[in-house]
Amino acid sequence: MTISPIFRPDCGNCFALCCTALGFARSADFAIDKAAAAPCPNMAGDFSCTIHDRLRPRGFSGCTVFDCFGAGQVVSQQIFRGVSWTDDPSARTSMFAVFKVVRQLHEMLWYLEEVPQRTYDPERADAAFQLSRTILAITGGDPAAVVRADVERLHGEVRRLLLEVSEEVRGSYGAEGSRTYDGGLRPGADLAGAELARRRLCGADLRGAVLIAADLRGSDLAAVDLLGADLRGARLENADVSLSLYLTQQQLNAAEGNGATLIPARLERPGHWG
Ligand code: SF4
Repeated sequence: MTISPIFRPDCGNCFALCCTALGFARSADFAIDKAAAAPCPNMAGDFSCTIHDRLRPRGFSGCTVFDCFGAGQVVSQQIFRGVSWTDDPSARTSMFAVFKVVRQLHEMLWYLEEVPQRTYDPERADAAFQLSRTILAITGGDPAAVVRADVERLHGEVRRLLLEVSEEVRGSYGAEGSRTYDGGLRPGADLAGAELARRRLCGADLRGAVLIAADLRGSDLAAVDLLGADLRGARLENADVSLSLYLTQQQLNAAEGNGATLIPARLERPGHWG
C-alpha cells in the first residue's frame, strides 16, 4: 500500500496555498518571518518554489516537512474549480480560510483511514466510515459550507474514536520501561533528547509527547501511539515504526532515519534520509 491519492499533495495542481495562506516564524525551520495570507518571497508567478531543490541548505527545512494531507489540490481544483487567488483576488480571503479548514478535515480523514486497519471491532470500523463520509461531504461542498463546518465537534468525535482504538491495540502489548524511565513513557511526556535506543517500547502511549532529537535508534515502536507527538530530529535509524499508531508523513519527514528504518506501508521514506 502507498499513500492514497486523496492524501498525497499534488503541488502542481495547487495555488501554493501552504506558501501563502499559512504564516511561519523565523526559526530553525524557517529562515524568515512570513505573515499568514502573504505569499512567500520564494514563490514564483506560476506558484512553484524557486528554491525547491535547495530548501534545506537555505534554511527552509520546515517546508520539506510540511504535509497538507492533499488539501491543497482539493481546495484549488475542486472547491474553487481551478480559479486561483491571482485570477480572482476577491476569492483570496475565502480560499485561504477554506484551505485551513480542509487541511484539518483531511488530517482527520488520514487518521480515520487507519481505524479499520487496526481495530477488531466492527462498530468502531463503521464509526470511522461514517465519520469519513460526513467529512468528505463537507469537502465536496462550496466554500461557504466548508467554513461553516463544525470542526471542533468533528475533532472531538474523531479524537474519541482514535483513543478507543489506541487502547484496544495497545492493550495487546506490554510497554517496557514505563516505570523505570525518568519522566515516564506517557502522553505528553517531555522526552526531548531522551536515550531510548534499542528498546522495546511496544504499546506505550506517547500521544502528544515531545520526542525532539530523542534517540530511538534500533527500537521497536509497534503499537506506540504517536498521535501528535513531536518527532523533529528524532533518531529513527534501524527503528521499527511500521506498526506505530497514527504516524503521519509530516512526523516522518521531521525525523531522521535510514534505509533500515521500517515504516508503515502507507507512508513514504523521506528523501533526506538518503
Ligand atoms: S498546500 Fe499542499 S499541494 Fe499545495 S503547495 Fe502546499 S504541500 Fe503542495
